[in-house]
Amino acid sequence: MKVGLEKLESHKGVAVRALLDSGVTGLFMDTTFAKEKGFKMERMRKPLMVKNVDETINVGGAIMHQVECNMFFKGHVERVRMDVCNLGKTEVILGMPWLATHNPEIDWEKGEVKMTRCPPICGKKKPEEKREVKRVEKDEDEEVLRKLVPKKFWKWRKVFRKRKSERMLV
Ligand SMILES: [Zn+2]
Repeated sequence: MKVGLEKLESHKGVAVRALLDSGVTGLFMDTTFAKEKGFKMERMRKPLMVKNVDETINVGGAIMHQVECNMFFKGHVERVRMDVCNLGKTEVILGMPWLATHNPEIDWEKGEVKMTRCPPICGKKKPEEKREVKRVEKDEDEEVLRKLVPKKFWKWRKVFRKRKSERMLV
């Protein structure tokens, strides 16, 4: 079971094994994968500093680029922007913002993902719309994070959090 990514310029599709990870707050694409597959990398106006994407995948330094593409998954189509960083062997991570937006039915035991609760926007291609990936969502870790992370880093704090996550390769 794979996710399809379509390049916007060439409309060429690439199959990718995506990792669903509720402990990660973003959408990420591996740098090497992006280069090998020839995804167009857009330089971000403000680099995103990242220490850890989560406890197991270590990302050092800054995220400088994003990739915008269409993502296909079980009849579902959407325009996504992914932060490009070094994910090791993982090609793509779909984190909490994506999971929250599409709220898929996940059977963690069987490894099944059903896209049954998507918002109306899914399934319709919106060619020129630039949707920023929502990075911030409310959660109970908020207060703890505010205490742990120095104020000047607050903008980035969401990637620092540590909590039990559920993850699955789709
Ligand atoms: Zn959806």
